Amino acid sequence: MQTIETDILIIGGGSAGIAAAVASSSLNQKVTLVERLEYLGGKATAAEVGTICGLYKYKKTDVSEYIVNGFAKQFAEEIASLSSSVPLYNVYGLHYLPYNISAYKNLCLQLMQKNDVNVLFNSKVIEVQVTNQLVKSVVIQSKNETIQINCKSMIDCSGNSCISQLANLPLIKSERYQAAAQVFTLKGIGQTIESNINLVVIKELKKAILNNQLDSSFKNISIVQGSYQNDCVSLKIGIPIAVTNSKDNLEKLREKAIEMIQHFVAHLVTHVDLFKHATIEHIASEVGVRVGVRPVGKYILNEEDVLACKKFDTAIANCSWPIEEWQEEKGVVMRYFNHDDFYQIPADCLISSQILNLFFAGRNISATDEAIASARVIGICLQTGYAAGMLASDNIIKTPSLNTIKAIQAKQIFV
Ligand SMILES: Cc1cc2nc3c(=O)[nH]c(=O)nc-3n(C[C@H](O)[C@H](O)[C@H](O)COP(=O)(O)OP(=O)(O)OC[C@H]3O[C@@H](n4cnc5c(N)ncnc54)[C@H](O)[C@@H]3O)c2cc1C
Repeated sequence: MQTIETDILIIGGGSAGIAAAVASSSLNQKVTLVERLEYLGGKATAAEVGTICGLYKYKKTDVSEYIVNGFAKQFAEEIASLSSSVPLYNVYGLHYLPYNISAYKNLCLQLMQKNDVNVLFNSKVIEVQVTNQLVKSVVIQSKNETIQINCKSMIDCSGNSCISQLANLPLIKSERYQAAAQVFTLKGIGQTIESNINLVVIKELKKAILNNQLDSSFKNISIVQGSYQNDCVSLKIGIPIAVTNSKDNLEKLREKAIEMIQHFVAHLVTHVDLFKHATIEHIASEVGVRVGVRPVGKYILNEEDVLACKKFDTAIANCSWPIEEWQEEKGVVMRYFNHDDFYQIPADCLISSQILNLFFAGRNISATDEAIASARVIGICLQTGYAAGMLASDNIIKTPSLNTIKAIQAKQIFV
């Protein structure tokens, strides 16, 4: 079996993984990143979620002010420029940045190349070796070969706690998780403005459900904000099947989503003038599963921390997004904290409770179901990713973690 030696091993090349890789590389570590897919970006590109939330202050203003600094802010500025987009905001005081999917993939790849990160695409972790409370190596299945990767520190950015699952470490599990959604793009939309498309879709859905032309499971369809461009618009359809993480759950969600999209588009084409020439341009390659199993860290972020806007001396991220929970029946349920306020994530949510050189970032940090319903947005994943990269790197050279936290705070967040 081929063997690779690395300082830092990152599992998953989503928003958190690429941020972790940049941070580790900036501290002169040899970095290897393992990604299951053939491109980077994770949910941001594979599920085409379309906007970055959690970058700006939660504030009723038409000027979007950053709540983050350092890498997350630089990434946002670059993706905004590459996507020719500006932040949007809604009446509740939430601000978010639309982005172009290809630009996101390219930016992630450029960052890896610029920072000399060894990225192994089409590679899935299948085994983990743990000895004396240290993760020593993983075995990956990469196309037709298996490779062993030995590392000094590891960061699990897989979104599904794959390392803790494979190593039988404690997990934060539920019987069912937040409802999933599928993004798809239509072309051939008539000349209009985006807010009008949204209104037309909402109105038609209400009417069609009332008249039994569509059943009520279609009620959770909305447009992806900022996606109307060149005659195309992206929509997001809520899937009325429980997310359980069981074996064939993903296939069932995908099948149901495709069936519903085809039915819904046929309805729009027949009944709504604006969509009479619409066709499906494409369906995002992955179902949008919002959360899954999380690992247990030294601290578990909870609902009260979020809603009471708790601040921590050991903070590594500033978070301005409310609790956003999606349910199959009700759709989205938002729980807000006070305007102009924010909560923080302490470093201990990124550090394994059991393994001395294992760190977490992104949507699989140590957090309860309620807390992760806020902390999973991309602006926060970029911050936890960068912080985990610094913590994992300093762990190798035995820098006291408080010093690293101070360095993260100075670079990344306003305190
Ligand atoms: C429908 C939907 C809508 C959303 N809307 C928004 C929004 O508008 N704005 C916003 O900010 N956020 C939104 N989110 C949340 C956000 O997209 C994600 O939480 C965030 O992108 C997660 O980033 P991550 O890096 O933690 O994980 P992911 O993006 O999930 O990245 C994990 C990566 O790890 C890889 N991987 C997994 N297992 C393995 C393995 N065993 N071996 C190797 N690689 C592996 C995966 O292929 C993936 O690339 C939405 C999510 C969904 C599903």
